[in-house]
Amino acid sequence: METRYPQMHSPDPDLNAIADAYDTLNKDFDRATLQGDRIAAVQRWDGLRRTFGTWEALVGARFAQNTQDEATAAAKTRHSEIRPTITNLNVEFQKRLLSSPHRDELEAQFGSHAFAVWENDVSTFDPCIEEDLVAESKLSTAYTKLIASAKIPFRGETLNLAGLRKYTTDTDRDTRRAALGATYGFLEEHGAEVDRIFDELVRLRHGMARKMGCENFIELGYRRMQRIDYTRDDVATYRGEVLKQVVPLVKQLRTLQAQRLGVDKVMAWDAGLYAPSGNPKPHGDHDWMLKQAQLMFDELDPRIGEFFAMMVRRELLDLKTREGKAGGGFCTYFADYGVPFVFANFNGTDGDVRVFTHEIGHAFQGFSSSDDRLLDCVWPSYDAAEIHSMSLEFLTYPQMDKFFEEEADGFRWNHLAGALTFLPYGVAGDHFQHLVYENPDATPEERHGMWRSMEQKYMPDLDWGDIDYAAKGSRWQFQGHYFGMPFYYIDYTLAQTCAMQFWLACEEDQGAALERYVNLCKLGGNAPFQTLVAQAGLISPFTEGCLDRVVQRAAKALF
Ligand code: ZN
Repeated sequence: METRYPQMHSPDPDLNAIADAYDTLNKDFDRATLQGDRIAAVQRWDGLRRTFGTWEALVGARFAQNTQDEATAAAKTRHSEIRPTITNLNVEFQKRLLSSPHRDELEAQFGSHAFAVWENDVSTFDPCIEEDLVAESKLSTAYTKLIASAKIPFRGETLNLAGLRKYTTDTDRDTRRAALGATYGFLEEHGAEVDRIFDELVRLRHGMARKMGCENFIELGYRRMQRIDYTRDDVATYRGEVLKQVVPLVKQLRTLQAQRLGVDKVMAWDAGLYAPSGNPKPHGDHDWMLKQAQLMFDELDPRIGEFFAMMVRRELLDLKTREGKAGGGFCTYFADYGVPFVFANFNGTDGDVRVFTHEIGHAFQGFSSSDDRLLDCVWPSYDAAEIHSMSLEFLTYPQMDKFFEEEADGFRWNHLAGALTFLPYGVAGDHFQHLVYENPDATPEERHGMWRSMEQKYMPDLDWGDIDYAAKGSRWQFQGHYFGMPFYYIDYTLAQTCAMQFWLACEEDQGAALERYVNLCKLGGNAPFQTLVAQAGLISPFTEGCLDRVVQRAAKALF
């Protein structure tokens, strides 16, 4: 019997019962004389983690669906409070596995990557930072609530940020300018509070890193992101490639965009609009889009089509924007049910299709690797996970006529332009965070200066005009990742570099490209980033020249 999302339930964790279960688990593992008993203990541990993970994901999803609801907010607070205790219990068991005299046999059973993940996990946690982690999580929730609280009066309507965003690509230039102004007006009003939250986060994170024996938070931040097989030098090399290859291309693109829009210069409020008649919008409402999406996935690959039908049938999609909903889009996973859940904020723009194919990519991967493997090997680290999502955005190019009909070419052009202009913004966000955590004592004012210097380096043409609050270097305050998941940003750019290779592969042979894609999804979290990239037949973003081919092809498509 299939459980639909509204009926999915996971009881509130009873900390005493959980502690007892781990205690028994540890004893059983220590006493086990047979390999079979040790394997059974690891599987029982995985079961405990799946149950807690299901509760955690349900709480997260329901909080995001309604940030104003007191009961879900209380559950979210409880989650923040108890998570470090659970992490502590897990780390104790992981340490047993890592130091077991039977480690070789266990590695043969569960794979060496699981052990690399555990070694990494263990190095990110110590009971001495438990309270700091609780405080960190609460600050991040406070930020989410603050941004979700936006009720901005705009031309007779009251809008949240997603609602306002669609006016930033309006065909009327004054409207775009006013919408972007109103967006930053909201941020300016709450800017001091956002600075306070971020300042506390930076201090807390630096303090945790010091307690864990690191010079600053960067090393710990990398470990938290499970960067097992590359270093900050590799990342710096990649940022250099973007600077060399993509920044000049974006400059050319802005010149062309200005011509197309009939303006002297592309200002910040013009950046998202690529044609004077407007960006193509999906030719129908939410329900129509779901029907078209089913046709698209059925045509693309029956495996993806079947998966999508299941998501609809079991109500695992919440796509429409509404008041009180958290911003953005995400995909989460209910391990006990073996199914993902997709969250978005449709606002009637082309962004809806983009977010939708993106999150379905994540969801399809999670579902594809939902077999009897350990939970730690279901999802890869985020850098690799974003390949699944971003590649599906490109792999569905040929099907885009289902949403945009005669405007599908326009959509593809915009999507490609958006993918390229994103790269400098993405690496700027990564470089910014390195500066922030290298200088933990910087003042909020200095941090705004750091962001401004990143804009000058990676987006030299960006002009905020008279939107003073943005011009002083405040755009980062809108980027939730920097608050909730530090250093989670370069991941999108690394993955985009891989996803664009799928675009080229798809042009050569769509069937073969899809097969590689589905296989990559099945691999899930069985290996670290660079191994997965190689197994999918892609060039690693840390290789010099990694962007050459895609940039050449993109230039041909765009100019
Ligand atoms: Zn994603």
